[in-house]
Amino acid sequence: MKKALKDIKQRLLEERDLLIEKLKDNDLSVDDSETPDPVDLAVRNYSKNVMLAVSENESRQLALIDEALRRVEDDEYGFCQNCEKEITAKRLAAIPWARYCLNCQELVEQGLLDEEE
Ligand SMILES: [Zn+2]
Repeated sequence: MKKALKDIKQRLLEERDLLIEKLKDNDLSVDDSETPDPVDLAVRNYSKNVMLAVSENESRQLALIDEALRRVEDDEYGFCQNCEKEITAKRLAAIPWARYCLNCQELVEQGLLDEEE
């Protein structure tokens, strides 16, 4: 394995650990076992929703990181999942789990490209 790829793998693994820690924390804070008063409940539901939204983002990112790690293992890392061109090193340095090159990412954001799940 190339050194650059090793570094990226390391970064992905660290990022992954952080996310898992965060998701664990979120689970603890949505504990509903106490008897709530209505105001408290409203506040709690609100923060619970925010928390869930955050978890959703994080779960999604976690999936992307797992996917990127698989591509590292398969020696396919760094290629756009749509056009199969090489993703620039600059982009990968900023977003190591990027699935698409800049062009295709723009298409995704404009809804012009179907993302495969
Ligand atoms: Zn592309």
